[in-house]
Amino acid sequence: MAKDYYEILGVPKNATLDEIKRAYRELALKYHPDRNKSKDAEEKFKEINEAYAVLSDEEKRRNYDAYGPEGFQQQYSTEDIFRGFDFGDIFKDIGLDINFGFPGGEDLFGGMFTQGGRGRNYDVGQSILYPLTITLEEAANGTKKEIRIRHIKKCDRCNGTGAEPGAKVTKCSACNGTGYQKIVKSTFFGRMQVNTVCEKCGGTGKVYDKVCKACGGRGGVVGDDTILVEIPKGVTDGMRLRLKGMGDFGKDGNGDLYVEVHIAKHKLFRREGNDIYVNVDIPFYTAILGGEIEVPTLNGSEKIRIEPGTQPGARIVLQHEGIKSFRGSGNGDEIVTVNVTIPKNLTDEQKALIEKFKGEDQSGKHAKHFGFF
Ligand SMILES: [Zn+2]
Ligand SMILES: [Zn+2]
Repeated sequence: MAKDYYEILGVPKNATLDEIKRAYRELALKYHPDRNKSKDAEEKFKEINEAYAVLSDEEKRRNYDAYGPEGFQQQYSTEDIFRGFDFGDIFKDIGLDINFGFPGGEDLFGGMFTQGGRGRNYDVGQSILYPLTITLEEAANGTKKEIRIRHIKKCDRCNGTGAEPGAKVTKCSACNGTGYQKIVKSTFFGRMQVNTVCEKCGGTGKVYDKVCKACGGRGGVVGDDTILVEIPKGVTDGMRLRLKGMGDFGKDGNGDLYVEVHIAKHKLFRREGNDIYVNVDIPFYTAILGGEIEVPTLNGSEKIRIEPGTQPGARIVLQHEGIKSFRGSGNGDEIVTVNVTIPKNLTDEQKALIEKFKGEDQSGKHAKHFGFF
């Protein structure tokens, strides 16, 4: 479900960083699970922190503003959102004691910030970033691209378990089958006894008498995959599309694949937001007399009318000929800038015609000509 972070913090869309910080502080103090024992406080507290992690970060906020809650969530996992976000510093900054230590505290953020949850380690595969360059037309119309990635795939021989087929399973002697060992460690929530993952069995509590010959017990092997990536209309340069679970294999879940879209520079069009800009040359007589010209568009070309007396640099807007908004709220426009070309080499006859025109012209008569005396 997409979340409106501005609403969560109760700040306007144009709030300054200071306003965001103030709102966050107030809410964090109010819903801090150590102070607020109501049922929803913990959930609310997480939400506030997520909103703050995004809106206090210039780049994340810009992406959130540009793509909206849904578009943002397509690009950022919860892990991405909190990356680089230091709760210790932030809580200190707003005057919250971080050493409050409440039971179950290590799970407050889903075990993201402490290593080892309860009894079971997370062997989650790495996420992969794949840069992909597409054309502006492809970005405008959406496209499908086949990409080939080399990553860690699930081992076929053991089906990802790491055990040689037919291997005997026994209880891990190091942890007595529990998968974890208790140690006292210093955590974000203060010093506490936490469960750390058993090194011998990796937290499974089980050991096999034979490990898989193909993967050496890791459950994954390096291999290639061809993946069809669907690129939605309106993607912008640098946008990341998240393909959940398409990254490296992990016994507890695969990493994600992020396809980072780059849009190649176009030889005709310049993109600004969802609008595209193009320059066209027209002969001076068309500018004067008017006429019809053909201009390139993202889907081919279109004939447009040039009004008599069109000035150099005039802009003609082709409505909705730009790029479809990623969020689906209408299309951008194509803005045509008219460049009037002046011929350099005239024939004698052409020169005579222009001279004749000059003789007829009244417009310059009363104007003051500075620089000529
Ligand atoms: Zn294997
Ligand atoms: Zn063990």
